[in-house]
Amino acid sequence: MNLPILKAGSALLSPIDNEVNRIISELLKKTPKARRDAELNFITKNIEKKTHTRYLISEKWIEDYTAYLNGESSQSPIPINNDKLKEMVISKTLPNNIYLVNEIIWKFVHKLYGGGPEIKQFNKSISFVGANTSTDHLSETQTADTFSRSDGTESLRNSILDTHTAPWYTNTTPYLKPMGFHNTSFYCYMNASLQMLLSIQEFAQYIYQEKYKTLSGKEETKFWKSVTEVVHAHFKQQSCIVPRNLRRISAKNFDPDQQHDAHEFLSYLLSGLQDEVNLPCAKKATEFKNPDSAWIYYRKSNISLVDDLLAGQLVSTVRCTSCKHVSTTYDPFLDLSLPIIPGKTKNLDDCLQAYQQEEDIDDSYKCEKCKATGKAKKRLHIHRCPRYLLVNLKRFETYPKKRKIKDMITYPASNFKIRDESEAQTASYSLVGIVVHYGPIDSGHYTAFAKRGDDWIHCDDDNLSKVDENEVLSKEAYVFLYERKSHGGVAKL
Ligand SMILES: [Zn+2]
Repeated sequence: MNLPILKAGSALLSPIDNEVNRIISELLKKTPKARRDAELNFITKNIEKKTHTRYLISEKWIEDYTAYLNGESSQSPIPINNDKLKEMVISKTLPNNIYLVNEIIWKFVHKLYGGGPEIKQFNKSISFVGANTSTDHLSETQTADTFSRSDGTESLRNSILDTHTAPWYTNTTPYLKPMGFHNTSFYCYMNASLQMLLSIQEFAQYIYQEKYKTLSGKEETKFWKSVTEVVHAHFKQQSCIVPRNLRRISAKNFDPDQQHDAHEFLSYLLSGLQDEVNLPCAKKATEFKNPDSAWIYYRKSNISLVDDLLAGQLVSTVRCTSCKHVSTTYDPFLDLSLPIIPGKTKNLDDCLQAYQQEEDIDDSYKCEKCKATGKAKKRLHIHRCPRYLLVNLKRFETYPKKRKIKDMITYPASNFKIRDESEAQTASYSLVGIVVHYGPIDSGHYTAFAKRGDDWIHCDDDNLSKVDENEVLSKEAYVFLYERKSHGGVAKL
């Protein structure tokens, strides 16, 4: 809809309308060249102003208009055509880069060139005339204020793209843009752990939308708030993220003046997140007849996203060597700590097999059947595979000798297969992140390699670089994060 240019100074119009109309009526009297300069001047002056409502504009139109303002094109702009954009809003397929302008700019270009439809963004919701409800949500990135730098429009298009590159706001692009994490002291263990965890798209999305608020009946959600701060920081215009709240709340357990273990920090963070959401157990755990009933019992109270994403189930059997009685327990896990057997374990699967090997329990086992105290054989095996498999290698030994096992353990980027007994099929995993420790046991440095979209990013505190998969696979990795891709060989869509 092309609105007529109303008379300047009309009492019914907002100050923005009045100003825009005044400028436009002056513009129309100018020569084409002077008019273009005045448009450029107006855009430059107003582009960074903040208005509550912002407007989406067709990428094609903005690019043509930029070319016109820059004098690259002598063609006068045609009416704005937002039809395609509107379709994308309806079908929730907005691309990574969308162009948003403040109300002043929208009214200016819309009144000058007409077209439409008008697509408004207010409080992260997008709406347009004729729509019953808002149909999509925008991230902080899209609500960023700049459309152009004040140095003219040479960078108009580029600055929009800079501001809005790889935002994460719809199901079609559910990943965070790569951002560095600040470190002036010993926070590399925290930074690397967070970068790896944020490779879980659902995790980032859930936090971004603050969905934990609806689950938790508890008032104290400092862990969730602290990770929300981290995720939201991805959408602010800053060079790197400072997880202030997370540092503060973990300072008691993780002395800011000391080195810490990334795996220990991950466990601490995940259990903090769990505790703030999970419900108390209805009644004391009883004996379970099978893994399924144990799992149902567990999931009744463990409702957190952390459990949704990371929890799997182990079956542990202990066989009494005297009477051969087998005692079985079912244990949920969020992560697995796998042994390295120097000279024996060459790859991650070897480590997983070693973890599931039967082992001897010393003389202290008390049998529930024959009541004797003696030797037993214990075996753990994975019964239920999680959606995301978090594993670490036991690289650090403190007993009998403090040392770091530096063996290279190879690991696959995809098709890491584990038998899921609960589904009687094989789960196939793809790597989405690793944490690497460099240096000796007491000091050294952590970095992460984390997936963002299809890219691998090396996250070394505030220093980020895009790397290829081969580089990721060449590391002496400490922690691994795998995403389950298939159920029984059939890709999960
Ligand atoms: Zn026994």
